[in-house]
Amino acid sequence: MHFDVIIAGCGPTGAMLAAELRLHDVRVLVLEKETEPPSFVRIVGLHIRSIELMAMRGLLERILERGRRRPAGAYFAAIDKPAPEGLDSPYAYLLGIPQPVIVRVLEDHAVELGAQVRHGRAVVGFAQDDDGVTVELADGERLRSRYLVGCDGGRSTVRKLLGVGFPGEPSRNETLMGEIAVGAPQDEIAAKVSELRETDRRFSLAPAGVGVYRVVVPAAGVSDRAAPPTLEDFRRQLRAVAGTDFGVHSPRWLSRFGDATRLAERYRVGRVLLAGDAAHIHPPIGGQGLNLGVQDAVNLGWKLAAQVRGWAPETLLDTYHAERHPVAEDVLDNTRAQMELLSAEPGPRAVRRLLTELMDFEEVNRHLVEKITAIGIRYDFGAGPDLLGRRLPDIDLKEGRLYGLLRRGRGLLLDRTGRLSVGGWSDRVDHLADPTAALDAPCVLLRPDGHVAWIGDDQRDLDDHLSRWFGRPVDRSQV
Ligand SMILES: Cc1cc2nc3c(=O)[nH]c(=O)nc-3n(C[C@H](O)[C@H](O)[C@H](O)COP(=O)(O)OP(=O)(O)OC[C@H]3O[C@@H](n4cnc5c(N)ncnc54)[C@H](O)[C@@H]3O)c2cc1C
Repeated sequence: MHFDVIIAGCGPTGAMLAAELRLHDVRVLVLEKETEPPSFVRIVGLHIRSIELMAMRGLLERILERGRRRPAGAYFAAIDKPAPEGLDSPYAYLLGIPQPVIVRVLEDHAVELGAQVRHGRAVVGFAQDDDGVTVELADGERLRSRYLVGCDGGRSTVRKLLGVGFPGEPSRNETLMGEIAVGAPQDEIAAKVSELRETDRRFSLAPAGVGVYRVVVPAAGVSDRAAPPTLEDFRRQLRAVAGTDFGVHSPRWLSRFGDATRLAERYRVGRVLLAGDAAHIHPPIGGQGLNLGVQDAVNLGWKLAAQVRGWAPETLLDTYHAERHPVAEDVLDNTRAQMELLSAEPGPRAVRRLLTELMDFEEVNRHLVEKITAIGIRYDFGAGPDLLGRRLPDIDLKEGRLYGLLRRGRGLLLDRTGRLSVGGWSDRVDHLADPTAALDAPCVLLRPDGHVAWIGDDQRDLDDHLSRWFGRPVDRSQV
C-alpha cells in the first residue's frame, strides 16, 4: 500500500484536503486529469469563513496579497444592501481572487506539506475491498491506497462509479460568460447596462482591463452542452438582449454555466468519499460553491486522518456526511431562492422588493450574510449552549490570535479555569490555560476545524468529550 489516501481531482477541494491530511502525516497522492489550469475565471471570491480557514492554516498573507478586499454584503441575490455592522469576525470582507490563483496557492501549500500531485492523470475506475481501494488510471496504471476521495467536480467519475444517487433539478437556465474586447464606447456601454439591469439581472458587462469586459448574458437554445461557446454565440445573445453586440471581438476566454442543482445522497460508501462539487452542484449565485468545497475538505481532513492513523472513534468518519450534507442542502436551497429572485416576472420581482425592504431589519440582513459567508453554521452536536457546534472567531489570547494556535490541525482546549487537563490526549489536543480569553464560557474544546465540541468546567465531562472526538487516550504507563 503506497498511499493512505488517493484524491481524484486537484481543484480547490482536492488541494485543500491534501494539505489537511498532510498536517497529520497521511501519505497522500492527488491525481489531476488536466495538465494545465483552466483559462477561464469562475469565482467572485472567498467569503468570511473560507478566509478564516486560510488564517487558521497560515495562508492568510498569501491570499491577501493576491486578492482584492470588497465589502462583505450585497451577495444574496445581488440585493444591494451593505452587511450589518459588527459581523463577528476580524475578516469581515469578501476577498476577490480568481479561482486558478486559489488553486495554485492551495496546491503549493499541499506540496510544501509533502503531498504528491500528479497532473495529466485521470481516474477512470476503482474497486474497493476490506483493506483498501485499487484505483485505475486512464493509461491503465493501477494504484493502491486505503481510501479514495472523489474531489473531481460536478461530473465526478468517482461519484458515478460509486453508484451514488445525485437527485435534484437539471439546468433550466444557461448563461454565457467571458472576457472579451469591446468596440463600443464606455459611456454607451454603461448606459445600456444600467437600463437593462433594471429588468434582466442575468446580464452584465463589467470592466476587466483596458478595453476588455467581463460579459455575462443568458444563453438561449444551447443544443450541445458539451461544445464550448463561440464568439458568435455571444454576439447573437447580446443582440437579442441588448439590441447591440457592443462590437465584441478578441475573446480572452469564453465559458458557459448552468443552474443544475443536485446533492449526492451519500458522502461515503465504505472507503470512498465525495467532497466539493462531486457531492453538490448549484447555480453560482452568491459565490458559494468553492467556499463550500474548501469547507468540506477542512471538515473531512482531520477525521479521515484520524481513521488512517488509527485513533478515530468508530463513528467519527460518518460525522462528515452528518454535518456537511445538511450544510450543502441549505446552500442548494438558498441558491434556488436566489435564482427565483433574479427572475424578471412580476411575482418574483414583487418578492424581491419585499425582501429588499425586510433586509432593512438588521437581523434579517445579518441572517442572510451569515448564511452566504458560512459563519452562521452550527453543527448538531446535541443539546447545549448556542456556541456548541459553532466555529469560534479568531479571538485574542494572551499568546496572540486563536487561529495561530490551530495551524497544525490539532484539537485545542481553551481553559479559563487553569485546572483542566487533556491528559492522555495530549498527542492530539493542545491545552492553553488563559484566563484572559474573551469567551462566554469557562472552557471550550475546539476540534481541528475550529468548531466548538464541548463547553464546561468539569474534568470528567471533558474526558467523555475528548473520547467522543479524539478516541481513546494514550496510557502513558504503557508507552
Ligand atoms: C461562473 C461561475 C462562477 C462561480 N463563482 C464562484 C464564487 O464566486 N465563489 C465560489 O465559492 N464558487 C464559485 N463557483 C463555483 C466553483 O467554481 C466550484 O464550486 C468549485 O470549482 C468546486 O471546486 P472542486 O474542487 O470541488 O471542483 P472543481 O473545481 O471542478 O475541480 C475538480 C477537479 O477534478 C479534475 N478531475 C475531473 N475528473 C477527474 C478524474 N476522473 N480524474 C482526475 N481528476 C479529475 C478536474 O480537472 C478539476 O481540476 C462558480 C462557478 C461558476 C460556473
